[in-house]
Amino acid sequence: MASTVAGSSIVALKSAGKLADREICQVRQWAPLQSLARPGGGLRCGSRRSYASSVVKAQVATAEQSTPGAVQKAESPVVVVTGASRGIGKAIALSLGKAGCKVLVNYARSSKEAEEVSKEIEAYGGQALTFGGDVSKENDVESMMKTAIDAWGTIDVLVNNAGITRDTLMMRMKKSQWQEVIDLNLTGVFLCTQAATKIMMKKKKGRIVNISSVVGLIGNIGQANYAAAKAGVIGLTKTVAKEYASRNINVNVVAPGFIASDMTAQLGEEMEKKILQTIPLGRYGRPEDVAGLVEFLALNPAAGYITGQVFTIDGGISM
Ligand code: NAP
Repeated sequence: MASTVAGSSIVALKSAGKLADREICQVRQWAPLQSLARPGGGLRCGSRRSYASSVVKAQVATAEQSTPGAVQKAESPVVVVTGASRGIGKAIALSLGKAGCKVLVNYARSSKEAEEVSKEIEAYGGQALTFGGDVSKENDVESMMKTAIDAWGTIDVLVNNAGITRDTLMMRMKKSQWQEVIDLNLTGVFLCTQAATKIMMKKKKGRIVNISSVVGLIGNIGQANYAAAKAGVIGLTKTVAKEYASRNINVNVVAPGFIASDMTAQLGEEMEKKILQTIPLGRYGRPEDVAGLVEFLALNPAAGYITGQVFTIDGGISM
């Protein structure tokens, strides 16, 4: 069987009609303290603002209730999470929203799902922006960052999560399948990082968490494009971490393995057994597991001395 790593789609499973194209997941989580102060800015209480252009739309949703988790509003970090309408990104957005952050929830197509994520953050007493835009496009990225800055005055944390798969064996891979994955999974991270670090540099403060994959470390049959992009994210992260360390910007990678999702829920019992045999911990990861690690790296003061590192969260597949 092709390696069963990564919640990422697996050729063997796909060809057996067991997996869809996308890596999926969902959920939410929590966590405590953080020290990322936010200067000025802020969103008018109870207000709703919308932004629209031919390409992008954003809607501001603010809290009806107060008491956003463990964080005081005056110090709420401003967070941008790409690809936050579904799966792991959704879990990360909810986790950070619940921790009291102001969260920009980016999506590409799933506007309804993204707005649900924002509403859930509101229900915690937090603030959220829902922003539709393709993060492989420079103009969309600029508009996205501007939307967060216009609403809340700054960006403290960037989570580069948006990702796609276009799996096929190397011998059959079309240039377009290669390019599409590289454009979003690698160039998108470059564009968002460059845009966010402009403001983080001036503040001499910021944290960036890039979602890669264990596939970027160990490879996977049928995922030359995906593995190359995810490995590229690791090299990019280490370089950015070195370049911005003197500006007090921490940049790290989270590399998930096989994460439970709607997709994996549809796997047959037999296939599931085979996959689980390859995971030392004997179970799939949960989106909450990934979100918890991201939240630690993004907010926790204890993560302030960590930069340029890769954290695998894969039940032991890659050891
Ligand atoms: P998913 O459920 O397919 O969700 C992907 C997210 O990315 C969605 O919110 C989607 O928005 C967004 N997106 C797609 N194209 C976009 C674009 N051009 N611009 C902006 N956003 C875009 O994926 P996932 O499983 O949660 O994966 C999230 C990240 O974790 C990815 O980087 C993936 O490579 C990585 N990862 C996942 C696993 C796993 O087991 N699931 C394992 C290792 C690594 P729409 O809903 O609007 O399309």
